[in-house]
Amino acid sequence: MAKQPKSRILLIEDEDDVRKTLRLNLKEHGYKVSVAATGVEGLAMARAETHDLIILDLMLPGIDGLSLVRALRQESQVPVLMLTARSSEMDKIIGLESGADDYLTKPFSMGELLARVRALLRRTRAPETRDELSAGDLHLDLVSRRAARGGRSLNLSPLEFSLLAELMRHSGAVLSRDLLLNRVWGDDFFGETRTVDVHVRWLREKIEEDPSQPRLIQTVRGVGYRFEAPAADEPEDEEA
Ligand code: CA
Repeated sequence: MAKQPKSRILLIEDEDDVRKTLRLNLKEHGYKVSVAATGVEGLAMARAETHDLIILDLMLPGIDGLSLVRALRQESQVPVLMLTARSSEMDKIIGLESGADDYLTKPFSMGELLARVRALLRRTRAPETRDELSAGDLHLDLVSRRAARGGRSLNLSPLEFSLLAELMRHSGAVLSRDLLLNRVWGDDFFGETRTVDVHVRWLREKIEEDPSQPRLIQTVRGVGYRFEAPAADEPEDEEA
């Protein structure tokens, strides 16, 4: 279906049903898929061949997904989409902080998975040409560092701009306060995580239609914040 060569995806998942369903759907959407049912096998395959994306289940027998992504990060920058169980809230943030690029909580729809896969592949395919971020009527020019919503310019401080950009880069994913502090304020910033809350509040005043009922930047209790793109950002795939 695509003119470009097929993207190669390595799927590491121990649950037979999930692995088979994902493999089938990904193949139907034009991807070349290799599968592994254990962490050991997956790591060996990741090292033996080049892949454009790895979809990795967090809970695996033997080497778990977390150890695997850490091992992988020593030697490769291949994008990793982590699959986590709904039960564990911590999985979500641990996944990202270990070096995964995005995660998806089970159960998820196939449309959701395919959207994440496309986003990750697009992000890594042309990272150097990326000079703007858009979501619905919200636009960030990463070169001039100007932000606008619905054509109206938003007067963001440099920190607010960086914070919003970081959230938008991981649209749909929950970012912990610690992770945001680290990425936006920097390693050497010894502040409290409450600093993040304060800046999120200021940011909401500037970008949300109703700051008391934020839609773009959502609070995930006990975890952190998630950017939700406004509707009609891009066409969604049908549910499989
Ligand atoms: Ca599993």
